[in-house]
Amino acid sequence: MVDFSLSDTERDIRDWVRNFVQRELVPLEPEVLRRERAGERGLTKQEQQDLQDKAKQAGFWGVQTPEEYGGMDLSAVMTALIEIELGRTFVPFRFGGSADNILFHANEEQKQRYLLPTIEGTRKSCFAITEPGAGSDAKNIRATAHRDGDEWVINGEKTFITGGIDADFTMVFAVTDKAKGADGGVTCFLADRDMGWTSEPIEIMGEWDRQPASMVFDNVRVPHENVLGEVGGGFKLAMQWIGRGRYMLPARALGGCERLVEMGMDYARNRETFGAPIADRQAIQWMIADSAVEIEALRWLVLQAAWQIDNGMDSRHAQSIAKLYGGTRANEIVDRVMQMHGGMGYTRELPVERWYRDMRLLRIFEGTDEIQRRTVARNLLKGHASVSGVLG
Ligand SMILES: Cc1cc2nc3c(=O)[nH]c(=O)nc-3n(C[C@H](O)[C@H](O)[C@H](O)COP(=O)(O)OP(=O)(O)OC[C@H]3O[C@@H](n4cnc5c(N)ncnc54)[C@H](O)[C@@H]3O)c2cc1C
Repeated sequence: MVDFSLSDTERDIRDWVRNFVQRELVPLEPEVLRRERAGERGLTKQEQQDLQDKAKQAGFWGVQTPEEYGGMDLSAVMTALIEIELGRTFVPFRFGGSADNILFHANEEQKQRYLLPTIEGTRKSCFAITEPGAGSDAKNIRATAHRDGDEWVINGEKTFITGGIDADFTMVFAVTDKAKGADGGVTCFLADRDMGWTSEPIEIMGEWDRQPASMVFDNVRVPHENVLGEVGGGFKLAMQWIGRGRYMLPARALGGCERLVEMGMDYARNRETFGAPIADRQAIQWMIADSAVEIEALRWLVLQAAWQIDNGMDSRHAQSIAKLYGGTRANEIVDRVMQMHGGMGYTRELPVERWYRDMRLLRIFEGTDEIQRRTVARNLLKGHASVSGVLG
């Protein structure tokens, strides 16, 4: 049976987030814009914390964190629905109580020092695999770690590391066995900032409350007990982190597209040219219609990918399709909405140009469009997936 409806619980949770966004976040938009224009953070750390506390009081904390850690342990479908709602505003809010999926591989002692404080929000992590010479081709990383007694000595450079300026510690990936390379020769280390790595901010096109950084490891000594998982098991962990939820990125973009098209329609109803609202013009109506069709298609791609995860299926193919379609369509839609606004769309008075800059990233990080296409084509050509989709 194919059933596209939401359960009562799913609807309740979705509506709660929708109200939260409407009540707590949307009113902050003018101030967030103003601050960002002035080169400041959209939300201060305290404001982010206060909003998270408010949500927590209503029981909303740790969306995907297992219940044993106090989280809600919600399904992938529910998480996608939440991301769509959060995407409807550009206020850079995140619910508290979550930690990187691979930190759950920590041993008991590491859990106390890294996982639990991250969930509590008292320590901040970052994920560092990309290097100046290795992005899409992550297997080509050059940072090394060699063992010296009870310690590992890490050398190398990382780049574009989200949150690398604020992070207290990083999950850094380094080659520990050059002959094996990504196939058993890469290890993940939990490296505290005070172990000696340094970071420099990277200025980027979009607004980004977790500014990316370049990081330098110059003979950074990390105790052996800080190996996350197994020595040589790092590349698998890295792929697990990246694959944790490709559906979440297009889900958030989808929420933004919904809001943008609503803004575009409002504008089109009110803006008159040549004696009639532009909404009466077929050129504008087609922009609205094409955007609505793409939004609807994206919704089901995202939810279907999430549904596959909830049903224990290998969802990587579906997630790549959702990420690729979401990235390209979101960019097309924001471009149309800017066009509908004419000159106003290009100004900094409205948030359209902000969304325009933000959406561009979706086609680049966590697997570029080209890499998603490569994955999709490879899966099909090797027979790992079928053009008939999950229905076979
Ligand atoms: C804002 C931001 C935040 C990021 N956050 C993180 C983070 O937290 N941690 C982290 O480790 N990394 C992070 N990244 C890095 C990001 O994942 C990489 O930038 C991305 O994977 C692309 O790698 P690259 O920049 O080296 O581009 P390249 O791999 O050099 O690619 C350049 C171009 O060539 C294309 N290309 C590459 N290989 C192929 C191929 N085989 N076939 C066809 N085309 C190809 C690409 O699609 C792209 O168009 C972030 C990046 C940005 C911009």
